[in-house]
Amino acid sequence: MVSFEFSDEQSEFQKTLAEFTRKQLLPGYRDRAASTTFPFDILRQLGELGVLGIGLPEQYGGTGAEDPIMLGLATETLAYGDVNLASAPIQIGLIGSQLVHASDEVRQHYLPAMIEGRETVAIALTEPGSGSDAAAMTTVARPVDGGWRLTGEKTAISWACNASAALIYARDPGSKRAAGVSCYLVPLDAEGVSVHHMPGMGCLPLGWGSIHLDDVLVPESHLVGEPGKGFQAVMSHFDFSRAAIGLMCLGAAQVSLDEAATYATDRHAFGKPIADYQGVSFQIAEHTTYLEAARWMCYHALWLREENKPHTSLASMSKWWPPVVAKNAIEAAMKIHGNLGYSTEFPLQQRHRDVMAYLVADGTAEIQKRIIAKDVFDRGSVVY
Ligand SMILES: Cc1cc2nc3c(=O)[nH]c(=O)nc-3n(C[C@H](O)[C@H](O)[C@H](O)COP(=O)(O)OP(=O)(O)OC[C@H]3O[C@@H](n4cnc5c(N)ncnc54)[C@H](O)[C@@H]3O)c2cc1C
Repeated sequence: MVSFEFSDEQSEFQKTLAEFTRKQLLPGYRDRAASTTFPFDILRQLGELGVLGIGLPEQYGGTGAEDPIMLGLATETLAYGDVNLASAPIQIGLIGSQLVHASDEVRQHYLPAMIEGRETVAIALTEPGSGSDAAAMTTVARPVDGGWRLTGEKTAISWACNASAALIYARDPGSKRAAGVSCYLVPLDAEGVSVHHMPGMGCLPLGWGSIHLDDVLVPESHLVGEPGKGFQAVMSHFDFSRAAIGLMCLGAAQVSLDEAATYATDRHAFGKPIADYQGVSFQIAEHTTYLEAARWMCYHALWLREENKPHTSLASMSKWWPPVVAKNAIEAAMKIHGNLGYSTEFPLQQRHRDVMAYLVADGTAEIQKRIIAKDVFDRGSVVY
């Protein structure tokens, strides 16, 4: 039998977060989202609520074993109030689960700081010459006494401008593709590192930027995971962050549809509330249907992860389709608001621009479809 019910613990946690979201996040979202200043005060509140340590070791303040469904619930719920802040648990979960394999020194400094919301860390794979084809990266880690010297450039990196460090992926000199790529924790104030802000159309508080590395000394203690295995390690973590990103976009879409339903009830045209016209009410019905389908697809991917069953294709489905569903729903909500939907005094246009980021970030739809198609053809079908 199948149950679509969350556990008591999950429901309680979601209730607490929903209350926080409506009171603390939703009212200030539009102003925060229009600014490039990252709200560390709210990040610390998320830390106090236990949102930032989901699935990370208890000894550093986390909740313990990996908990994909709880992560999805948290990010979906927070995104109802602020889609940018909702990305924090995903980012910290993705990075934290790799830092678990770092030295004591690195773990003890960064894991509690991230889980408490005092510091953020960026994850830097993309380079000017390699994005979708991340294995074509050219940043080099040259072995020297006591560590490595890193040289290269990372671009389009979320959190670059507000993080204290970044996971930098770099290759052994002469190595090719994924083999020979290792992961290094590089403090962004290290000598030879420079960070440059990149102007984007949304996600402004996340501090999008490029990271330049000019012969940066990285000590042995700052290697993360096994040498030469950095690429495979990050790819396996994307399998759950992708479904969580899908849910995050859907949370932002849900609040937009709720706002549209309220507006449609209040706004009159031709002597009646516009909600009385099927041209309006059917749009809300249709997008609500798409949201429902996309939502359970994401939770299915997270459930498979929790059950230790194959879930790579479903994670990719959850990364390409829900952001499209969410973007379309927000667009419909904007149109239902008429001229006000276009106004920067309303949050809808901002949500639209913030959600658009996830059509590209963490892998485009085309790259997700490559993964799904490979699975279909390798296995003959995709049966879960
Ligand atoms: C808001 C935002 C935040 C980001 N944050 C981060 C971050 O924190 N860390 C990080 O490392 N990166 C980050 N990125 C970078 C992101 O991961 C890359 O932009 C993305 O993987 C695409 O790479 P690209 O931009 O180089 O495009 P390209 O790889 O050059 O692709 C260009 C176009 O070609 C298509 N394409 C490429 N190859 C194929 C193919 N084989 N088949 C079909 N179509 C193909 C793509 O789908 C795309 O439409 C972020 C990007 C954005 C927009």
